Amino acid sequence: MNILILGAGGREHVFATKIAESKLCDQLFVAPGNAGTATVAKNINISPTDFKAVGDFCLTEQIEMVVVGPEAPLVAGITDYFSTVPSLKNIQLIGPAKAGAELEGSKDFSKRFMQKHLIPTAAYATFTQNELEDGLTYLRSISGPYVLKADGLAGGKGVVICENLDQAEQTLIEMLRDAKFGKASAKVVIEGFLSGIELSVFVLTDGENYKILPEAKDYKRIGEGDTGLNTGGMGAVSPVQFADAAFMEKVETKVIKPTIEGLKADGIPYQGFIFIGLMNVAGEPFVIEYNVRMGDPETQVVFPRINSDIVSLFKSLKDKTLDQQELKISDETATALVMVAGGYPGEYEKGKLIKGLEEVEECIVFHAGTTEKEGNIVTNGGRVMAVTGKGKDLETALEKAYSGAKKICWEDMYYRKDIGRDLLAMEVKS
Ligand code: AMP
Repeated sequence: MNILILGAGGREHVFATKIAESKLCDQLFVAPGNAGTATVAKNINISPTDFKAVGDFCLTEQIEMVVVGPEAPLVAGITDYFSTVPSLKNIQLIGPAKAGAELEGSKDFSKRFMQKHLIPTAAYATFTQNELEDGLTYLRSISGPYVLKADGLAGGKGVVICENLDQAEQTLIEMLRDAKFGKASAKVVIEGFLSGIELSVFVLTDGENYKILPEAKDYKRIGEGDTGLNTGGMGAVSPVQFADAAFMEKVETKVIKPTIEGLKADGIPYQGFIFIGLMNVAGEPFVIEYNVRMGDPETQVVFPRINSDIVSLFKSLKDKTLDQQELKISDETATALVMVAGGYPGEYEKGKLIKGLEEVEECIVFHAGTTEKEGNIVTNGGRVMAVTGKGKDLETALEKAYSGAKKICWEDMYYRKDIGRDLLAMEVKS
């Protein structure tokens, strides 16, 4: 079959690499893609949120499956668009319709969903622009740290954690009254602070059945020792040492099953990925957030551990036969180092010549912000690429990834040197 992937990041380069390996895939396209996806698929210059252009392209190229990488087209309703246009309705979309995408598109919706289906999460209250005074009163009634979340999509920046009440009150005013995150913060969720270690769990579901993909831990801050500004992600590791069998059992029974059953009970069809951000609080899982797509850079460590044909798994979502598929997961550890442009996540320059890619051995380079210019690969974004190393244990995987990263250079390049170090100190899970 002919397949189209939507997106331009590292996640989409991973998808393209994995899908291109499948015997079920004839022609593969990525819109708009990057210099990495261009090596395994054909890039086309279409924006993932231009549904009409995506649909027309699918008809011209006889696309049978569209794999949606980022959240924006899902939250904007690309799956609904395809199912309502008669000439497109037989094309399979990997990603939920708008109703399911609300799990990520609205924090208030996701909190109500969790509360209704008894899924463990922090206590919360939601306030709209007209309820600023009530919000301030609520803040004064709880103890800190204070977690304030813009209800809508804010490019991963909509969560503010304040240590003291003054800061929290100020932030709430900025979010609700001054539209700090634009329309996304016209509603704000205030929730209790969860203290613990974070990890991400990924599920593929056809709405009836589900498969649990390898879990991952990511590193969000720009600086070593988890300091400095938040980024889209500076590295990731899978598996996660502290996600042992007992903990994952709790995740499945207390979070995953009620999530799938809750969607069904609420009449929300769902075919695609669910990415569950969790806090391990003294051995108990609490949901921090849902995302309705895979993570980036988590995909760069999750997918290299999947040994099954991903297209076959995707295909089975259409007739809800995911339960008949086998998901083979490698025991190996995978770790990804994200290499960024100097200045990121603040201002940075583009167009820097990337050298040394051909010298990288024993690891996989997934491109993100790259493009081809006059036969050279140059930087084209903040997060430029990720180097994934795989090995029998975390130490070996890290060694490979770091030796690969050392071969690559461009002016002002930066990457964290402490990815996975915290996990190295922990016992290996059983
Ligand atoms: P989110 O965009 O919801 O993933 O939030 C971004 C980050 O904020 C998470 O990765 C956590 O590190 C942190 N966070 C969100 N909610 C909470 C919470 N209730 N307690 C503690 N930290 C949180």
